[in-house]
Amino acid sequence: MIRQNSFTKEEVAEKEVKYQCSICQDREYIIDRHSVKPCRCRETKIYQRILQKSGISEAFQRKTFKNYDTNKKPLIIINAKKMAMEYVAAFQKISQQKNNSIAFFGQVGAAKTHLSIAIANELMRRNIGVLYMQYREIITHLKQCIIDEEYYQREISKYKTCSVLMIDDLFKGLLKKNKVNDTDINIMFEIINYRYLKGLPVIVSSEYAVDKLLEFDEAVGSRIIEMSRGKIVEFEGIELNHRLVI
Ligand SMILES: [Zn+2]
Repeated sequence: MIRQNSFTKEEVAEKEVKYQCSICQDREYIIDRHSVKPCRCRETKIYQRILQKSGISEAFQRKTFKNYDTNKKPLIIINAKKMAMEYVAAFQKISQQKNNSIAFFGQVGAAKTHLSIAIANELMRRNIGVLYMQYREIITHLKQCIIDEEYYQREISKYKTCSVLMIDDLFKGLLKKNKVNDTDINIMFEIINYRYLKGLPVIVSSEYAVDKLLEFDEAVGSRIIEMSRGKIVEFEGIELNHRLVI
């Protein structure tokens, strides 16, 4: 009997080069004789580069389901993780539905951001583009460029049209002197309403409760609630004796 230990040329090449995307071999474009098309991995790679540029890439990647600790944690924390993992597992199907989003509201310290980022990381691993929007920072940026209409439209359209938008800390710092900042609301309405009409998912975290969200602005709040129906966790009054892994 002859044992074959040698590899074919192709097998050797395969072993030497491990591409993140085997479809385009990390070129991000699919090139054939007649056309050049962006590969499905391209959007994800663009968003990864944005994270790297802003210096939060590593911190972002560290937030996974694996290190979202549910040991001896209240049932709501355990269920939130379960819901988040189920959302990722069924995403292809869910993304076709009207209620294709997921939201975590309430209590500071419940690691809502961790859970949202874990979802984003898992989706990105599957080459689904998730754009990370740190609410306060991005809203400030958008307000700064509002006088340059063309630039503003280009900037806001990123958040309107990305495959999945993750909004971290929605409405943080919205209240100024106990008054809701109307410009913030208008910008958010433009983004949320567009995504709502186009059926584009959002992953939302906010320290505010659902009723507060509606109180701030019913149009924005009710759309997010409708988009996330069945996949909303509201953390409230949980005994958080020890800090959760964040
Ligand atoms: Zn590719």
